[in-house]
Amino acid sequence: MRSFVHTADPSRVIFGAGTLERVRDEVERLGGSRVMLLSGGSHALRKDTERLRDVLGHLVAAEFAGAAMHTPVEVTEQALSLLRERQVDCLVAIGGGSTTGLAKALAVRTDLPQVIVPTTYAGSEVTPVLGETVDGRKTTRSSPAILPETVVYDVELTLGLPAAASMTSGVNALAHAVEALYSPDATPVTDAMALEAVTAVGRALPALHTDPSDLAARAELLEAAWLAGICLGAVGMGLHHKLCHTLGGTFGLPHAETHTVVLPHAMAYNAPAAPQAMERIARALGVPDAPAGVFDLISRVGGPTSLAGLGMAESDLDRAAELATSQPYPNPRELTRTGLGDLLRDAWQGRRPEGAPDLRPLTDEVVASFDRCTNPRLRQLLTDLVRTLHVYSIRNDLTPQEWQRAIDFLTEAGHITTDTRQEFILLSDTLGVSSVVDALTNSRTPDTTSSAILGPFYVAGPPAAEHGSDIAGDLPGTPLWADIRVTDREGEPVAGAVVDVWQSNEDGFYDVQLPDLDGPVLRARFTTDAEGRFTFWSILPSAYPIPDDGPVGRMLSTVGRHPYRAPHVHFLIDAPGYQPLITQLFVRGGAYLDGATGQRDTVFGIKDDLITDFVPRTGPTPDGRSVDGEWRLLDFTFRIARLDG
Ligand code: NAD
Repeated sequence: MRSFVHTADPSRVIFGAGTLERVRDEVERLGGSRVMLLSGGSHALRKDTERLRDVLGHLVAAEFAGAAMHTPVEVTEQALSLLRERQVDCLVAIGGGSTTGLAKALAVRTDLPQVIVPTTYAGSEVTPVLGETVDGRKTTRSSPAILPETVVYDVELTLGLPAAASMTSGVNALAHAVEALYSPDATPVTDAMALEAVTAVGRALPALHTDPSDLAARAELLEAAWLAGICLGAVGMGLHHKLCHTLGGTFGLPHAETHTVVLPHAMAYNAPAAPQAMERIARALGVPDAPAGVFDLISRVGGPTSLAGLGMAESDLDRAAELATSQPYPNPRELTRTGLGDLLRDAWQGRRPEGAPDLRPLTDEVVASFDRCTNPRLRQLLTDLVRTLHVYSIRNDLTPQEWQRAIDFLTEAGHITTDTRQEFILLSDTLGVSSVVDALTNSRTPDTTSSAILGPFYVAGPPAAEHGSDIAGDLPGTPLWADIRVTDREGEPVAGAVVDVWQSNEDGFYDVQLPDLDGPVLRARFTTDAEGRFTFWSILPSAYPIPDDGPVGRMLSTVGRHPYRAPHVHFLIDAPGYQPLITQLFVRGGAYLDGATGQRDTVFGIKDDLITDFVPRTGPTPDGRSVDGEWRLLDFTFRIARLDG
């Protein structure tokens, strides 16, 4: 159990395409009539800034186009004097984190409301945090007055962000989400937002790398940026953000690019102390190892991977490590000079963090080999099988010896399989796959008797038997009278249903396992009468081990599992116009029914509605047959579904 405090910051968010048109309404909603329009003056955003000016019309009382990276205080001072001179009552900023930073710096000094129109994925617009630079030193502060009141996300504005900047800005968002997942302040809400952001960034970046004008991918990335930004504002960040802060503030490295280079290395450093977060990130990205996976993602989309490439001098690495460890802050793993020195050296050189190699191109190549398959279902099943098997092999770092063992195991299963011994069904049953497939089918037919697995002992075309006949032959055992009815979902009898019945003897063997028997025993085919009914004599089934002299039995004993099945009788019901039902009835009170003791059916085949009374009786029997001592009564109604529902 964890305890947490969750505070949600109150910002209003407008999201969509073409939402720039709504900025004026939002300003008026905040009571603004004298707006200061802030921008970074970049050529790329000139047209969008002009459009925004048109939308605001006569509300624009002042304009300042000098926002700069890392919010230098001298720039803020210039803007502040213009703001005062023009008696501004509302701030509107269009641009990336730098322009947002200027709006925040002005708001914290004047308490004016802000409407932010973000054009990158930095996420600053939804945080109450401001980083400012005074004399080359960057300091950070937090205050409710800093949090912008309204954010207008217009996906169309991000279309102009160059491909390279889109990638690095997207990784900036990813970094917020990653560090939120191992933050000591994390809550279920920030976890959910962070994971959603990681998944979306992992999907959107490759899509935008292929086509930077893909509006759907732009929208997905902008949503991720918003979610990741909320995480950044809600919980404390760790090593990665502190390092980037130092590298940006003291060594002048560009913000989003630095985040992009450092993130995989900060993750690799923290991975041993945050295994659960890394596992969740890896799953969200669909990679076996989170730090290496993030490095590969960045490389694949053409992002920068080395600090040297960003212009950092190797001689500055030691100082950066010293600065980053000079003041303590919460981080999952203890921060040491040597540790950070190594991290920075790896980042400077652009070394891929250790982890599984990037095998995605190989997987993609195999998947692409199914492209010409004209059966879409087959293509889907093979594609997913390959992807799952590849991830399984990578995640478990499979050795050639282990894979050979698996192949030998399957080969042995093939060799031992005959017409009457099916080792592959045993394997599927004991791994629970048969029950998964069965449960999927069963869940589609509510109000019917549960289905259960077929098992390995079914023989097609059993001998037809008369109602009331004895299917046990001369085999010893407690006599069992079965009185069975088959109805539809409404309880109406189903006449003419063909029902195959098969079961083990009192020692737990099926006839196919007893070569000395003369012909089929304890298996028969009945047809229901006009009342949907049939009856027969048999013997009480007993618990039995599945055949355990083959590779599946060896697997069970190696992992300390018993091979026993709870006592049961099998039924396969097939009626024209109805869905076939394969099921089993378990003897209530029998062995291997109790999950609490860990002694449950070894093929995971039990469902509660299939556990039924095989009622002990003495005295007269339903058909007058004379029985000495105890006999059992099985009285059961199967409900089956029509094919048309
Ligand atoms: P930025 O705002 O500096 O923009 C980078 C460049 O891209 C600029 O030249 C800008 O004009 C251009 N640009 C922006 N949007 C564009 C678009 N749509 N089309 C074409 N060009 C476009 O970069 P950033 O990464 O968004 O922000 C970085 C700054 O934000 C840093 O100072 C960082 O510290 C700060 N930040 C603060 C927080 C916080 O919560 N306080 C969070 C994230 C970032």
